[in-house]
Parts: sequence; structure tokens; C-alpha cells
Amino acid sequence: MTCDTFLRVATPLPATITAADVAGATWDVIIIGAGPAGAATATQLAEANLRVLLIDRDRFPRPKVCGCCLSPLAVDELRRLGLAAEDTISAVRLPLNHVQLIAGGRTACLSLPVGAVQSRETLDPAIIRQAIAAGTAWLPETRVLSARPNSTGVEVVAAAAGGQEQTLTTQRLIIAGGLAEAVRTIAPTGSRTALRRRPPYNLIGLGTTLPGDSGSMQAGRLIMAVARAGYCGLVQLEDGRIDLAAAVAPTAVAAAGSPAAALTHLLAEAEGATGRVISPAAITAATIRATPPLTHQTAPIDPASNLMYRVGDATGYVEPFTGEGIGWALHAARLLTESLVGRDGQLLPPATAAASYRQRHRQSFAQRHRRCRGVAIALRHPLLVAAAVRAAAWFPDLAGRVARLCTGTE
Ligand SMILES: Cc1cc2nc3c(=O)[nH]c(=O)nc-3n(C[C@H](O)[C@H](O)[C@H](O)COP(=O)(O)OP(=O)(O)OC[C@H]3O[C@@H](n4cnc5c(N)ncnc54)[C@H](O)[C@@H]3O)c2cc1C
Repeated sequence: MTCDTFLRVATPLPATITAADVAGATWDVIIIGAGPAGAATATQLAEANLRVLLIDRDRFPRPKVCGCCLSPLAVDELRRLGLAAEDTISAVRLPLNHVQLIAGGRTACLSLPVGAVQSRETLDPAIIRQAIAAGTAWLPETRVLSARPNSTGVEVVAAAAGGQEQTLTTQRLIIAGGLAEAVRTIAPTGSRTALRRRPPYNLIGLGTTLPGDSGSMQAGRLIMAVARAGYCGLVQLEDGRIDLAAAVAPTAVAAAGSPAAALTHLLAEAEGATGRVISPAAITAATIRATPPLTHQTAPIDPASNLMYRVGDATGYVEPFTGEGIGWALHAARLLTESLVGRDGQLLPPATAAASYRQRHRQSFAQRHRRCRGVAIALRHPLLVAAAVRAAAWFPDLAGRVARLCTGTE
């Protein structure tokens, strides 16, 4: 990839509509959040000729705690969106075909079903561009504060950075705000944020990008280090930087005194005497971002109105070890679009759309989430993981098969 290509895909994405014009328009669908879930939903709904507004509180490109690995499902969903690896925008993707596991001072390298690596600074704007090209109106740097369904649609209160609050109206609202989404929904019975179910022992995400010379990395290979406090993935990005993304117990961060110290301890424990993959000084110097607790479940539909839907991380997530979140988000976006729009290109009645999305969402994700919860439970036993890594070094074919079962690609 030339530097020019990178700069073109990484240049800021300006709004395509002003705040004043947004308030004056009537919308079929407003989507909150322009990560993969929101931008993919916007693309498909705009392609169906609906009037779609995509809002995000951030400006893009923006940093995001993420391992940046695209599963085969993610690659396939991106291809369906018109973002195949061969086209210009997506050419920044690198193929990913190996994982090097490190635990208890042991290491093993396994082959993976071919996926890809792409930084979120290039992936997310590429999908938003696709949405804009399909006809979506794009309004960044605007935070949605609350939503109130009524008999005809949903009233949405939003505020631009440093600007006044304004009320927008839409027939349907899609909440794709990710793990940290906290849109207040106002029902006749009172105001509340959605009820999130979380397991008692939950990890938080930590992430950063490091300069390319911070460690010895190989393109196309994911390094996954597992220790008692959690696990940490490292991968070389398309521009040579190293992406670090970890799932760590909050108690370990508190005990270590800082996220950087917790990550350094985690890597040192996993590596043992195998040698440092990343310089601890680079981690100490980095700006480390954190997420809320990772694993949760939140209802995909507001049952009182059937007019507000959740998609992507906003409706459920299970720890990132198997690197499937982006694929899930893109897949759910397609299920939601197919549930919302009828053959005639019109929005289906709320109850019909809600029933279809609820059923298809459950069918698609219940088993995937169960599998990932099983993997998460196994990872809580570092001795077991270290033994598995030792066995994997001896029997790589068998271990590769287990890895495919764990990632749902067998
Ligand atoms: C440590 C870690 C590692 C991971 N590694 C991988 C990996 O390797 N591969 C993989 O596939 N997945 C991985 N994931 C998961 C992946 O990052 C998510 O599943 C994916 O980003 C979900 O996309 P989304 O669109 O639902 O949410 P997001 O990408 O989080 O986007 C949500 C957007 O909503 C916006 N927003 C939120 N609230 C509001 C509001 N009120 N108003 C306006 N805008 C709002 C935010 O600014 C944000 O841009 C990882 C996650 C973590 C934490």
C-alpha cells in the first residue's frame, strides 16, 4: 500500500448534512453509532431507498479498542457490502492466517482459516463511505441523549459538540452505540437506559497502537498471550504499527496500579523465559484506552413500541478471544435490514419487523455466544491453557482443528 492510499482512506470524514437541515427533514430511520454495525445497517437501508441518517458522537477516523482481526464471516459480510479485499479502499487489509499462542512460558503456532487484519482507522471510514455513497446522510460529532417513542415514530434528542440540543423525528430508531452506549429511552412509564445483563466475573478491554519498532512482529500472524489476569492480542497493522488489544480483570488493573503495568505483567507471565515480544517501555509510553465490562446481553428490541432496535455490541457481546465481534456486528446489520424492509422496499409494520429480527437474531447468535462463553470459561484456567499450548506445539494439526472449533469455522 502506498502512503497516498493510506492517507486517502484515513482523511477525516466531514458531515454530509448540517445540524439545521437534519432537524428540518423527516427520516425513515435514524441510526446511532457509525461503527461496523451502524454503518453497515445504514448502507443497506439507504440502498433500499429509505431516508437514513447516521449519527456518531465522534469524528472519524477515531481510535477504537479492538484486535483489528477480521474473521472469515467479517470478510464475507464486507464483500457483500461491496468492500471486497481487491477493491481500492479495502486493499489496506492484510491477510491473517496464523495465531501464535503464548502461555505459561510455552508457545505454539497454529494455522487459522484465512481472515484479515485492518486498522479501525481505515475499516470504519470505509464502511461509512459506502453508506454515504448509497445515500445516507452523515452527521458526526453529535451525541444522542435520549429517545422517546410515540404513536407515529420516535423523537430523538441529540446535541452537537458545544451546540444546542435538538429534537429529530424518525419512523424507526436503530441503536448501534457499541459497548458504551447509554441512550436514555423514555417510555410513558418513565425514563430509563436499557437493562444490561452482565455475568458477575467480567473483564474489561484495554487497547492501544504501538510504533512498529516496539517489538518483533510478523505480518499475517496474531500473537495471543494468556495469563491469570486475562489475555492480550498483538498484530501488525497495514501501516506497520502494532495493535495491542487485551481483555483484563479490573482487579488486576487495580492491583498493578495502571493499565500499562497490568499489561506488562500479563505479557511477562505468559512469556516466561520465551523472550519479550513487545518492549515494556513502549507499553508504558503508550496511551491506553479502556472499555466498559465486555460480556453483556441487552434486549435487541424495545418491546413496548417495536420501533427501537439494537444491533452489534449494543445488543450483546462475549469476550474478544476468538475475534468475532466485527463479523457479528456486520451479520446482525444484515439480519436487521432484512427484517425491517419488505419486498416493496417499504418499512414493514413494527410488530412484523420486530418478531422477525428477534427470531433471526436469536437463531444466529445464541449458539455463537454460548461457544464463546465456553472458550472464556476455559481461559480462566491458566494451567489448562499452558498445557493446551504445550500439546499444540506437539500436535499442531489437531490443535488447528480445536482452534477452528473454538472460532466456529470448522
Ligand atoms: C479488547 C477487544 C478486542 C477486540 N478484538 C476484535 C477482533 O480482533 N476482531 C473482531 O472482529 N472484533 C474484535 N473486538 C470486538 C469489536 O471491536 C466490536 O465487536 C465491534 O466494534 C462492534 O461494532 P459496533 O458497530 O457494534 O460498535 P462500535 O464499533 O463500538 O461503534 C459504536 C459507535 O457508536 C458511537 N456511539 C455510542 N453512543 C453514542 C451516542 N449516544 N450518540 C452517538 N454516537 C454514539 C460510538 O462513538 C462508536 O463510534 C474486540 C473488542 C475488544 C474490546
